[in-house]
Amino acid sequence: MQFKELGLSEEILKAMEKIGFEEATEIQSKTIPLLMEGRDVIGRSHTGTGKTAAFGIPAVASIDKARRNTVQVIILCPTRELAMQACDELRKFSEFMPWVNTCAVYGGADIEKQIFQLKKGVNIVVGTPGRVMDHISRRTLKLDGIRTIILDEADEMLNMGFREDIETILGFVPEERQTVLFSATMPEQIMAITEQYQTDPVVVGTAERSRTVDSVEQYYFDVPAGRKTDALQMLLLAYEPKLSMIFCNTKRMVDELTEQLVSKGFKAAGLHGDMKQSSRTQVLNSFKSGRINILIATDVAARGIDVDNVDAVFNYDIPQDNEYYIHRIGRTGRAGKTGAAYTLAGGRRQVTELMDIARYTKAHIERRDLPTRDDVINAKTSAVIEKIKGYADSGKYADYAKVLSGLEAEGYSVNDLAAVLLGMRISKEIRTVPEFITPVTRRGTGRERPEGIGKNRKNVKVEISVGRQNKIAPNYILGALVDATGLAGKSFGRIDIYDKFTTVEIPEADKEHVLDTMTGTKINGHKIKIKLYEGRERNDGKDYRRFDKKPRRHSSHNNTTKRNSKRYQ
Ligand code: ADP
Ligand code: MG
Repeated sequence: MQFKELGLSEEILKAMEKIGFEEATEIQSKTIPLLMEGRDVIGRSHTGTGKTAAFGIPAVASIDKARRNTVQVIILCPTRELAMQACDELRKFSEFMPWVNTCAVYGGADIEKQIFQLKKGVNIVVGTPGRVMDHISRRTLKLDGIRTIILDEADEMLNMGFREDIETILGFVPEERQTVLFSATMPEQIMAITEQYQTDPVVVGTAERSRTVDSVEQYYFDVPAGRKTDALQMLLLAYEPKLSMIFCNTKRMVDELTEQLVSKGFKAAGLHGDMKQSSRTQVLNSFKSGRINILIATDVAARGIDVDNVDAVFNYDIPQDNEYYIHRIGRTGRAGKTGAAYTLAGGRRQVTELMDIARYTKAHIERRDLPTRDDVINAKTSAVIEKIKGYADSGKYADYAKVLSGLEAEGYSVNDLAAVLLGMRISKEIRTVPEFITPVTRRGTGRERPEGIGKNRKNVKVEISVGRQNKIAPNYILGALVDATGLAGKSFGRIDIYDKFTTVEIPEADKEHVLDTMTGTKINGHKIKIKLYEGRERNDGKDYRRFDKKPRRHSSHNNTTKRNSKRYQ
């Protein structure tokens, strides 16, 4: 449907023309008319289908000139990037409507500047729930004039623990209002919000795929801490790609991973910038000829490689750049073939990073469960059996019947012999299938850590570069840890807050994962450094305070996390 057919004002049509939108996407054609009528709507469509304009156009159209200094529309988004992005788009939609003023408010940015902007008189506010709450409590944002509230990426906001904030905000907005919710998925939690806060909503769903859909199916796996190599091995065994490329972020990782896969019997080779040109050429030729079928590379080394029939790309590390993601997955699905890209995300933070990439690249990346050891073994077993049946039908090894009858004469049953041969053949196949211990607890799964909590667990201490001087409380630390690592609150032991730093006991097994995921995060607005604690325990009892975590506190750790994520979103 053309934008012209949607009954939009001249100003908006002019803006659409300037931006270059002609044809409305499916979600836009369906929801814009309903929203302009003032209906409550639940909109569901994939990433990249144009949801921002679907709610943004009606939002700017609804602004009442006569009340231009009153906030009339509030839009909640899960992250600051999304809030900024939506704000920019709305400004473009309203370019020819000088009375529309849009402002973005999000954490991690100067609140004074935002207050200044809000005071200048805005009528649309786009913000993250945490910062919006902040402004409400400072009374720098008044919600009593609001006529429309929009929850963008509602599922993601709930995933991030913003439920309570969202409900509080909904509570502040006048009841006489339009409530709009957009989401890529509709989990039960969302239906609950819908029932409570919307009035007679119209559900609009579309099956439309992303605007930039291509020939690559994209999946990701949430991999327990420290188990990426096992996960990768499992995937290689389960999917058996003929030719695959694996991407790592560092040369060291390329070397390590190559060594590990080769030692497990995979035909793999590494490629990175530190290698001599001659060995690089050799590796590439082996890959092109199929002598090795797994190429492990860094982004830089893989640039310009031109191999057409790669059927799977694995992102062992999350790409550091959106463009890298596109380049990586572009290695497969070439020359009219389909391909698949699999990304290993180690914990919640990496999942969030990947979702950001998906958003920017307009990709739809679907979550999959890792194949289990049993899945792989069963598949291998049936493959062997199929092969045996095929040989039996073709009479390939018929000559060995003589040997068999000899053995029978010695008293062995054919049955037993067949079982032994089958066992030998299959155990060869499954030798390299990794043992996958039940994964570490992730928030929300309700599963327990199998390694066991308690006395026998080996702990180490990490040192985080914020302390009492930074007005840190134990629940901030715990919240940040849970949020960044995806581990359960009870995985963490004693938290000691000193003047300038804090130590936390963590399970030895998770140490790399914790260091990895916590690096660069913010706690109470402070960008932190984290390292293994080298022990400079002071016992003068003066310049530090000790907090022993009481087990009870974790019953409310959701709350802690939420409060905290607000602080460093
Ligand atoms: P979603 O929120 O559903 O993930 P976005 O609103 O971010 O999608 O839009 C995805 C991309 O599509 C953006 O680059 C946007 O500018 C573009 N887009 C949206 N609607 C249209 C349209 N009707 N015509 C052309 N491009 C569009
Ligand atoms: Mg969006």
